[in-house]
Amino acid sequence: MSRPSQARLDLAALRHNVALAAELAPNAKVMAVVKANAYGHGAVTMARELEPRVDAMAVACLEEALELRESGIHAPILLLEGVFEPAELEVAARENLWVTVDNAVQLDWLERARLAKPLQCWLKIDTGMHRLGVEPARAQAYFERIAGCSNSVGKPVVSTHFSSADETERDTTQRQLALFEQVTAPLAALRSAANSPGLLAWPASHYDWVRPGYMLWGNSPFGSALQANAARLRPVMTLCSAVISVREVATGDSVGYGESWTASRPSRIATVTVGYGDGYPRTAGNGTPVLVNGRRAPLAGRVSMDMITVDVTDLEAVKVGDPVVLWGEGLPVADVAEPAGTIGYELLTRMPQRCPRVVV
Ligand code: PLP
Repeated sequence: MSRPSQARLDLAALRHNVALAAELAPNAKVMAVVKANAYGHGAVTMARELEPRVDAMAVACLEEALELRESGIHAPILLLEGVFEPAELEVAARENLWVTVDNAVQLDWLERARLAKPLQCWLKIDTGMHRLGVEPARAQAYFERIAGCSNSVGKPVVSTHFSSADETERDTTQRQLALFEQVTAPLAALRSAANSPGLLAWPASHYDWVRPGYMLWGNSPFGSALQANAARLRPVMTLCSAVISVREVATGDSVGYGESWTASRPSRIATVTVGYGDGYPRTAGNGTPVLVNGRRAPLAGRVSMDMITVDVTDLEAVKVGDPVVLWGEGLPVADVAEPAGTIGYELLTRMPQRCPRVVV
């Protein structure tokens, strides 16, 4: 391989992060959320490493679950959005997939199905996200119908999802938790609420199952805000490249498409072979940090499809071939996502096929 852009994947960091999840929620089982190609890291590679260390996994849809089954993953896998048509229930039963029920249509499909084997169901309750889930006032009725349905193995696990657990100063999560507690306490069922920020910052949300996704990849769901537990995470993906050209530019010279950066002093510009075609965000503006030879330097000029340009005037002797880190080890993805107007979740998840994933 000649082009130096690649996403290096550190499986020791993944093991560290999953161990941290288990340490922080010692009484809960861990369900690793590996949807969207394990947030861009490669679902099969990540799931193989996770399988001996977690109790179950979760994905968004049947296709993602089947990819894991075809790769020899045997752990239970929850379909977080449930099924999208009744025929999927039969596949779920055959493949030992767990199924979310979050509305009346899905409950109807479950009750009418003629399954070869009953399913483990998860009943999702809407405690304030208002995206999926049944009304709290009707949760008990749903619970009883699922528990009594011959296509269900018995009581469903009851779950909810937080809208704002990453914003610890807001009281939204407390309100969601109080409602969840009130609705689920009489049901004597296993419960699940915590995503990564819940696991890291809201111990009262741990219940019987935690459902971390983003934190497993070693990034803080709190962005660049400090959070003590999140500070212990180690990034799994480091997006790397190298300098392929270095030039001097005079005061007043502009760099890149649209002349969006102009030198205010005699400057040295390093061109790096990575661009939005490799998943680096085009919306990252001038000044976004880039690590060149392990030192921070500011992006200078617009991100191209295959290249970026970096102002290395203040770094010593930068030359062709020098290593560059776009995010990961030494540069949190949030430090790039925030100036680009997005979150690390999006940058990782939309990493394109073009960028080789290399396990180091
Ligand atoms: N649980 C559910 C229902 C989700 O939809 C998600 C992700 O969106 C997660 C858990 C994992 O969230 P996070 O990646 O913040 O840990």
